[in-house]
Amino acid sequence: MSIHVGIMCKMCRKVHFIATSHSIKPSKLAAGMYRLTCNPPCLTSGEFRKESMRPYRVSEDVFKKGYAKESEYELVR
Ligand SMILES: [Zn+2]
Repeated sequence: MSIHVGIMCKMCRKVHFIATSHSIKPSKLAAGMYRLTCNPPCLTSGEFRKESMRPYRVSEDVFKKGYAKESEYELVR
C-alpha cells in the first residue's frame, strides 16, 4: 500500500489518481483547473481545482490502473 493524490467522482465515488489516470485533463476553461471524465458506465464529468485533490492509501496495482473503486481506497487524514 502507498499514498497517492487523487480526486473522487461525486457520482460513483471512484477515486482517480492525477499521476496515472487518463480521465484527468487540464481544463480548457481556466488555468489551475482540471477536468475529470469518469470511466464508463458513469461518464460523469466536471471541473475541479488542484486543491480539492486528497491523499488516498491504495495498493500499487490499483494505482497503476488509474482509479480505485469505493472498497479499494482509504482517505488519509
Ligand atoms: Zn464516476
